[in-house]
Amino acid sequence: MPELPELEVIKNFLNQNVIGVKIEDVKVRQPLVIRCLLNDFTASLCDNSFRQVERRGKFLLLHLEKDVSLVINLMLSGRLQYIREKSHLNPKTCFQLILSNQTELRYFDMKFMGRIYLAKNNDFSHIPQFEELGMDPLSGEFTLERFREGLKNRWGMIKNVITNQRFISGIGNAYSDEILFMAGISPLRKSTTLLPQEIERLHTAIRKVLSDSIDIISKQTGENIHKQNRDFFQVHGRGSMNCAICAYPITELKPDGKITNYCRVCQK
Ligand SMILES: [Zn+2]
Repeated sequence: MPELPELEVIKNFLNQNVIGVKIEDVKVRQPLVIRCLLNDFTASLCDNSFRQVERRGKFLLLHLEKDVSLVINLMLSGRLQYIREKSHLNPKTCFQLILSNQTELRYFDMKFMGRIYLAKNNDFSHIPQFEELGMDPLSGEFTLERFREGLKNRWGMIKNVITNQRFISGIGNAYSDEILFMAGISPLRKSTTLLPQEIERLHTAIRKVLSDSIDIISKQTGENIHKQNRDFFQVHGRGSMNCAICAYPITELKPDGKITNYCRVCQK
């Protein structure tokens, strides 16, 4: 599932490549993911140009000139694909935006679980979970003070706390494992038991893991914004492989179907 770093790279790519570009045609192939009237979807996008692309939590906002925003929540398996030359159409393609610069922006989704909305005149109130989004960990509002304050009111395992989108937006199951590994904190720790220096370490790790990942992904991705490469991960998805620090096998838990990986030796 794409999280903040992948979405940030897609946002930057689109800002560099489609601003001012017009959508000349819209082809809907699988309407399941589109959460508005299809006629409205096509009519609002056609003949409209990209003004700016933004990210909020795990939502991508493609703002268009005529006061419409295309809001994309990729969820588990949604992907945006940028096509420069005519190429094979992924059979799971849901819609294609034919652009005036001879390119195409496609959306495909292996599970059709993504959610695509239109927002008009900056009204996002109809989009579930959008207005409750918490602090963006890369923004100036995510200070150590505010992080510490927020933790006071949150009980439960620290992994669940830092993936709570109402508290901090954009971190999901995968990057939380990487963050907790860097901070040396077990994902199972109760957030209320964290010592002041651990909170500080965690705050630093959140920013560092996310921004380092953005750097790595943007170098690897290029125009292939639909590809997800996480081979630089230290623990997530590396169950039973050896920890890079202590060589002890990485633990894998699947309490609710979601995989959690961590090192029992390095993370306390
Ligand atoms: Zn270790």
